Amino acid sequence: MIKDILNKHEVNRSDIVYLLQVNEENELSLIFQKADKVREKYCGNEVHLRGIIEFSNYCAQDCLYCGLRKSNISLERYRMTKNEILQTAERIFKSEIKTIVLQSGEDFFLTGKDIADIICEIKNNFDVAITLSLGERDYEEYKLWRKAGADRYLLKHETANSKLYSVYHLGQKLQDRVQHLLYLKSLGYQIGSGNIVGLPAQNLEDIAGDILLCKCLDVDMASFSPFIPSPNTPYRKQKPCDVNFILKVMAITRIVLKNVHMPATTALASLYQEGREKGLSAGANVIMPNFTPAPYKEKFSIYINKKSDDDIMTQLTALISSTGRFISKEKGQTLKMH
Ligand code: SAH
Repeated sequence: MIKDILNKHEVNRSDIVYLLQVNEENELSLIFQKADKVREKYCGNEVHLRGIIEFSNYCAQDCLYCGLRKSNISLERYRMTKNEILQTAERIFKSEIKTIVLQSGEDFFLTGKDIADIICEIKNNFDVAITLSLGERDYEEYKLWRKAGADRYLLKHETANSKLYSVYHLGQKLQDRVQHLLYLKSLGYQIGSGNIVGLPAQNLEDIAGDILLCKCLDVDMASFSPFIPSPNTPYRKQKPCDVNFILKVMAITRIVLKNVHMPATTALASLYQEGREKGLSAGANVIMPNFTPAPYKEKFSIYINKKSDDDIMTQLTALISSTGRFISKEKGQTLKMH
């Protein structure tokens, strides 16, 4: 049965739910082997690094799971200056990383033009791709930033169950989130979506729905990361996602989506010491080292015990070669053939 599913070209919802239920050792290794094969076929053995700058932790949203939620008044807020952002971009570039990810909470203090200026400066000074992860903004702003040179946009749908979406995001609608992803796609961005695995009340059908929504949106990047509780949020007492479960979800996601970039996320590395290595063998082909400088880095606390590495490049070089893979020298643009 499991072999039949793994050999199908197109798996359906019930196949995915079946795979998500697999717990027997031999069957699990078949899933991981298949995911590794698919990863190798579509992504090769190169691992792409994306250097993240978390430049503001102000957020207008109040997501129940996230430590940056606006109701979290115990979090000290910061906003990096343009100069600090550019200096950090230079550090990333000098580490020979070819993608810079600008990430923040939904911070409307920064205007569309402020962000566009930062994008332009980075693009003019460094030969890198830019990924934005700034939450939901206006169509006109997305358009301006694309014109300024942004290549990609990460906007996770978080859950494809519309009822749960409205619970986690206080009445907001999944439909609107998806509309934003479609706007971004129509503007020529490479788009990234994905979910959080292990949120309260989520079931296997929901996770199958998350994978299928990414397929339906034909995403270029898919980030499936484990829930980790965050203090000072309504979900502070919830259990974190089980590490073996998130690895299984990642492997199945790779098998279904095939030609997408998929990170071994910081959340996975925070949950489990060898998270990055395990993620790379469960279908991932991307690692996103954090370059946010002190004293800001520790304040971008979306969840507890977020991994913070010193000398990250030395570590990653050793880690990646220990898996028999190598760091890509390319920008790692979309794997889709247009
Ligand atoms: N404002 C941006 C970036 C948010 S932070 C946006 O809305 O897209 C990046 C990601 O952190 C979110 O997409 C969410 O999936 C993840 N995240 C937030 N809280 C989390 C938690 N408690 N556990 C795991 N991931 C979390």
